[in-house]
Amino acid sequence: MSTTPNIDAPKFKTESYEVLVVGAGGAGMRAALALTQEGHRVAMISKVFPTRSHTVAAQGGINAALGNVTSDDWSWHMYDTIKGSDYLGDQDAIEFMCQQASEIVRELDHFGVPFSRLENGKIYQRAFGGQSQNFGEQQAYRTCAAADRTGHAILHSLYQQNIRLGTTIYEEYYALDLIFDQQGEVAGLMVMNIHNGEYSILQSRHILLATGGAGQIFRNNTNASINTGDGLGMVLRAGLPLQDMEFWQFHPTGVAGKGMLISEAARGEGGVLRNALGEPFMQNYAPKVKDLASRDVVARAIATEVQQGRGCGPEGDFVLLDLTHLDTDTIKQRLPGIRDISLTFLGVDPVEQPIPTFPTCHYMMGGIPTNLNGQVVCPDSQGKQTPVKGLFAVGECACVSVHGANRLGGNSLLDILVFGRQAAKTISQQLQTEQGQPNLNNLSLDDLELSGVRKRIQRWQSKTSYQEENLHSLKQKMQRSMERGCGVFRNQQSMQHALQELEQLETSLQQVNLRDHGKVFNLERLAAYELENLMAIAKATVHSALARTESRGAHSRIDFQQRDDTHWLKHSLYFSAGDRLVYKSVNLSPNQHAPFTPKARVY
Ligand SMILES: Cc1cc2nc3c(=O)[nH]c(=O)nc-3n(C[C@H](O)[C@H](O)[C@H](O)COP(=O)(O)OP(=O)(O)OC[C@H]3O[C@@H](n4cnc5c(N)ncnc54)[C@H](O)[C@@H]3O)c2cc1C
Repeated sequence: MSTTPNIDAPKFKTESYEVLVVGAGGAGMRAALALTQEGHRVAMISKVFPTRSHTVAAQGGINAALGNVTSDDWSWHMYDTIKGSDYLGDQDAIEFMCQQASEIVRELDHFGVPFSRLENGKIYQRAFGGQSQNFGEQQAYRTCAAADRTGHAILHSLYQQNIRLGTTIYEEYYALDLIFDQQGEVAGLMVMNIHNGEYSILQSRHILLATGGAGQIFRNNTNASINTGDGLGMVLRAGLPLQDMEFWQFHPTGVAGKGMLISEAARGEGGVLRNALGEPFMQNYAPKVKDLASRDVVARAIATEVQQGRGCGPEGDFVLLDLTHLDTDTIKQRLPGIRDISLTFLGVDPVEQPIPTFPTCHYMMGGIPTNLNGQVVCPDSQGKQTPVKGLFAVGECACVSVHGANRLGGNSLLDILVFGRQAAKTISQQLQTEQGQPNLNNLSLDDLELSGVRKRIQRWQSKTSYQEENLHSLKQKMQRSMERGCGVFRNQQSMQHALQELEQLETSLQQVNLRDHGKVFNLERLAAYELENLMAIAKATVHSALARTESRGAHSRIDFQQRDDTHWLKHSLYFSAGDRLVYKSVNLSPNQHAPFTPKARVY
């Protein structure tokens, strides 16, 4: 199914909106809902049917100090998040997020999210890693859950609310690139209709990127195949930086050899990790909280057990997540999705047998740098962080930064909703102060040349009948290079090697032409656009990681094992031109609470 787009025509079909929201996951949906509610002309764009966005796969839950099970306080949540971030998170942003959490969850309840309930009718909350009461004392129960399908419940409720209010949705449209006008201001977006291959321009002075994560740069990952970091690619091509790209979360319990997620909820409900000797080994790594230590700590512990020869199976390459001692009803009622995954992909019923697991890439802590209002920021010539007029980013693609060097489970669903709502508020205020309709002249060919988007469209028109190298194999090679060179543990040598491989792959990508089936299939063109983004993100990751000569949170270097606050308590900003890195300081000054000074992180 393809038509040849008329790329030489001086004008593309154009529509204009007050706001474009790119992405229909939790972040995009929450923002679009708030904007539509305020009566703005909004279009939400998604490359898949909205409820297939990755948010739908979130299992364990969303954090809020509701105190339904154990007493709780937003400032304890704030402390845990800062400690979990290995002190790289910005304390003003974390404070803001934790303060808003209860209201965000109550709002979800009112939107119709079917949360699991306690006997007294209150929202069910479970234990998750890295959560404590009273600044590090006993375990807290803070993660609000709809069984182990919380994301599914949230995304569908938000979708229904958007439909109810009539948000315009471009579904199965692929956003290629941002378009800036000749004054350098945000002016629109080039999109491709995936059904018929037609390109068109959506014009707007306010664009919110909510394009989700990019876990597809690693071979084993929990992410959907659509998580290719398109928003990040767009931002890099626009000459803007990406922040903290060295920090990728490896979830401790992926299905061994396959990568799908077995939620932390399994350990939250009492599951225990065991090595080949049957030992519950987490007691050796985190004596106090054991299996509920922070994710980076548990992932390293598993990798270490395997490296030291205590792995299970014929290859000794995984450990076991044991739920067999739990009540069968707990598994069936609280973890039905986990049981399904285990049965489907491993043929293992966790009621009877432990689940083979190994760390898998799960989440990117880094992303498009923003301030608390979701405005994309970039250092000016004096190094001052300045908002890019009209450009916003929220959700997993953004780095505000509330997760720092390591995210706590249950904090991403919170992040996407808090900042989705906040960015929408900011945009709405800006629109109200603007006089009448935004000033949008029809974009000319010059604007498109300037934004480089026309060249990119033309690039993937070329076709060939013979292909030595194809997109799929290039993608697999990139994923393997990243896993070997920049995985749970990394060092200078492994990363240098990955970088060399990435550079070769990039050259190969430039030489690939799409297959000639008499025409070029749209999905093949889409895969090419996505792979360009993934490659750019992989390179950003390796460059940022090579430069950071310390270990912090999820960035574990064998050659620099200590955290080094003297030199590295700072965020990295990577620009693709010249692979340049600059740094900015971490915000250690919350607005209301006293600051939490960095100290050793023990669980
Ligand atoms: C398996 C799994 C389980 C998880 N469980 C939890 C959990 O229990 N608790 C928690 O807090 N976090 C969890 N997370 C993390 C959390 O779910 C995600 O970080 C979060 O949902 C991301 O939301 P988002 O709105 O930013 O992006 P997504 O939900 O990924 O949505 C991205 C959107 O962008 C659109 N898009 C992307 N590129 C383009 C393009 N070029 N053109 C048009 N549209 C585009 C997509 O179509 C999609 O609509 C989990 C993640 C995974 C993978």
